[in-house]
Amino acid sequence: MAPKTQTKVSTLTSRITIYLIITLIAQSFIIYGALHIFDSLPPEYTGLAEDYKIYRDIFRGPSNLISERLTGNFEHDQQVLNELQHYFTYPLQLIPSDTELPNHVKRQFISDTLAFDDVSNTMYLSYGFPNHLLQIGPLVNNDLLNAYFPALLVFVLVCSIISAIIFFCLLFFALLPLWRDAISLRTTAEQLAAGDLSCRSPQTQSWLFKPLSKLLNQMADKIERQVHNSKIILHAMAHELRTPVARLRFGLTILADAENQTTKDRQLIGINKDIGELESLINTSLNFFKMQQQAPILKKEIIDLPQWSEDLYDGLQPFQPERITFSADIENTLFAFDHEIVSIAVNNLLLNGFKYASSQVALKIWTDHQRLMIEVNDDGIGIPLNAREEIFTPFSRLDNSRTRSTGGHGLGLAYAKLIAEYHGGSIKISENQWNGARFTMILK
Ligand code: ADP
Repeated sequence: MAPKTQTKVSTLTSRITIYLIITLIAQSFIIYGALHIFDSLPPEYTGLAEDYKIYRDIFRGPSNLISERLTGNFEHDQQVLNELQHYFTYPLQLIPSDTELPNHVKRQFISDTLAFDDVSNTMYLSYGFPNHLLQIGPLVNNDLLNAYFPALLVFVLVCSIISAIIFFCLLFFALLPLWRDAISLRTTAEQLAAGDLSCRSPQTQSWLFKPLSKLLNQMADKIERQVHNSKIILHAMAHELRTPVARLRFGLTILADAENQTTKDRQLIGINKDIGELESLINTSLNFFKMQQQAPILKKEIIDLPQWSEDLYDGLQPFQPERITFSADIENTLFAFDHEIVSIAVNNLLLNGFKYASSQVALKIWTDHQRLMIEVNDDGIGIPLNAREEIFTPFSRLDNSRTRSTGGHGLGLAYAKLIAEYHGGSIKISENQWNGARFTMILK
């Protein structure tokens, strides 16, 4: 175990110990109170006879035997008791019958000749002569609640300590995995907050934290990917801007030194073109980031697929090179989607097809389990397996020199992916029968 984790486990132990000492004190009071409550419960609830009934039963025999020897003559009876006393371990004495007795004792005399005072632990016998009562006791005390307070305290404490130790062990072993997981999650969160985005939470053991650590790791993955993407985007954008800016600077220098009007005009045309390229890059990037930051409200309409794809192709025909043949296989059905933004995505895929195909591009659209499937195939060089994820990152290109001539900014596929995702769908790249690229867009 790592020293840091060990320290934290000992913190858990000391915390539980503090809680247990508090619990111990509380438990002592609880046990003491519970004993009192139990003692005060009526016998019909506890199934135990009341003390006075038990004592009366025990002492009925000895007290009747004594009373048989008594005659009602005080001196004689006292004499008898003195003689009998050495047979008994508790005092026997006569008391005047008008002695003030507690009410609960008086009540017992209504129905019996024996009465027991459970406060003083004394038995009284009304033995048939009106002037005196026979007092037996005080008897030994065996009521737990009447025990000496220090003894009772020790009893209650021992009960509490035993139950607290059991409780501690249960609590410790139940909390240990939770505690370890919580600490490891906290450490991961702290490291992430400190900027170490590669940090991940180790496999957690407890059911409580398992989903949390999975979520934390997923979140960290996402943030790390986003930060990585942002870096690529920033780098790529700087690169995209640098080329037209350098050309502009170069054009301006030549313009300043130009001696004849023809050179000046040529440079002005070039400068205008570069400004146009910069403007287009800035606008496309801004639109993309705007869309990325705030999901558009989808205006879903029921669309006739053959009609929609025909309109789409009509708009793209001017960009179709002569060497390329285009074919379409469209399911004759209706589907509800935001055709305006989906058209942007499919346009990008088809334009790429026209750019990178050798001789043919094919569009296939069909529905499958409430999903709209759009497939664009071409017979170009295809996309290598290791670039099929990265290619959707804004400004990413497979081969700069090849793409420079095609004039894109590397945003077309990023747009298509975003649009598919806003439709609850996805886009993936695979190979087709011509060894070219196949883009399959799924919309829900
Ligand atoms: P661009 O505007 O540069 O075309 P995209 O995001 O549409 O940007 O494409 C990104 C890169 O993916 C392209 O620069 C190209 O390298 C590659 N690519 C896209 N479509 C195809 C395709 N059909 N065949 C081969 N490579 C492609």
